[in-house]
Amino acid sequence: MLRVTNTYTGRKEPFEPLEDGKVKMYVCGPTVYGLMHLGNARPAVVFDAFRRYLEYKGYKVTMVQNFTDIDDKIINAANAAGVDFKRYADRFIAEYWIDAHLLGVRAANFHPRTTDYVPEIIDIIQRLIAKGHAYESGGDVYFDVRSFPKYGALSHRKIDEMLSGVRVDPTEHKRFPLDFALWKTAKPDEPSWESPWGRGRPGWHIECSAMSMSLLGESFDIHAGGNDLVFPHHENEKAQSEALTGKPFARYWMHNGMLRFSGEKMAKSVGNIFNVREALTRFGKDTIRLFLLSKHYTSPVDLSEEFLQESSRAARRVRDSLERARELGVAEKFVKADAWVHEMESRFQEALDDDFNTPMAVSLIFELVSELNSALDKGDEERAAQAYDLVVREIGPVLGLFDLPEKSTEEAGENLFSGVMEILLDVRNKLRSEKRYEITDRIRKRLEEMGIKLKDTPQGTKFTLDHHG
Ligand SMILES: [Zn+2]
Repeated sequence: MLRVTNTYTGRKEPFEPLEDGKVKMYVCGPTVYGLMHLGNARPAVVFDAFRRYLEYKGYKVTMVQNFTDIDDKIINAANAAGVDFKRYADRFIAEYWIDAHLLGVRAANFHPRTTDYVPEIIDIIQRLIAKGHAYESGGDVYFDVRSFPKYGALSHRKIDEMLSGVRVDPTEHKRFPLDFALWKTAKPDEPSWESPWGRGRPGWHIECSAMSMSLLGESFDIHAGGNDLVFPHHENEKAQSEALTGKPFARYWMHNGMLRFSGEKMAKSVGNIFNVREALTRFGKDTIRLFLLSKHYTSPVDLSEEFLQESSRAARRVRDSLERARELGVAEKFVKADAWVHEMESRFQEALDDDFNTPMAVSLIFELVSELNSALDKGDEERAAQAYDLVVREIGPVLGLFDLPEKSTEEAGENLFSGVMEILLDVRNKLRSEKRYEITDRIRKRLEEMGIKLKDTPQGTKFTLDHHG
């Protein structure tokens, strides 16, 4: 039985959807004002894989992930670029799809955009005012936190603690410092919509309540996102939704840990790989996903060049073995699901049933790959086909790993380098056999200047690199 960590209860709990066999989940999506970085890639990869696992287990999943396409950051960036905010947001939604595709992140069932839900947002705000949970003040509308006694229950914070962290903006006229904006009155030169409180735009938190409840209903199963969203974003979402409907909003709150920079300052090199497009170009999809899924989703992940290189080497070992199996025709064989296959399958399910323990599932892939290698060495085609099948057709597709042959540019570059060296050494050997030592010594010397050392052995000429990269 699947168990997940529920932020709301603070416990690992059995997962029981509201409706048998169906799961409705909402994931807070990106604010579209720049290219995706690995910090946004983590929830995208993790919850996409989680959804695939739910489907693997036979659930019919309805997943919603929004795009926040109106926000101060977007308005400021669009103004700086001299572009209409909508055009600006459109551009980065298009860029999101490119990165998501390259990362192997599937589209959700719905990708609503905030600006398409303004009538729904206004309707919710009107109903909250009518119920005494919100009030208008100078064209702004605020949620009345004190009208919702359970406020703080999701983030496990007390009112006093929350109050000490709050900064009061003198331009806002709230009744209580923790009250948050549902509607903001229009500032000059900002996009705005007509409302019962004059022209303005939605506050941030209300959009997710409007989009999730419109598409999934007033109560649904999973609400997910990064743990930086627990407070205030999710706390506020929960308060306004439950104040409105009187029903529990999301049943399970799942949060992924943050990306850290290994305690170091964000060096330029880390800055570059932080950008998903760049990281993908250099390392490829499998490396990035392996890097992100090798840690449990609730833990922080440390990002460094070295850790990505490590994942890159691990990914290559797997791909090399799979490639070898394909070359030997193992991939085409039909597989008998014997006791060993069933045991591997249940170990995979046990790992992911235990709060989506992807590090354990990843280590199972490595184990299967060593089994594949030794089966290939022994000529045990049946076992090789079984191991190949488990990695490429069963576990791989759930984690979005090793499901398609791919090569990163670094790897392609390294293969090219090895190929060129092979040709050069071939030519040099030919010259040596003709005793043309003047040329062969010159080749050796020039290569040494580049840090490549040649060693002539009875088995042929080998080369080593003094320093790598
Ligand atoms: Zn949200």
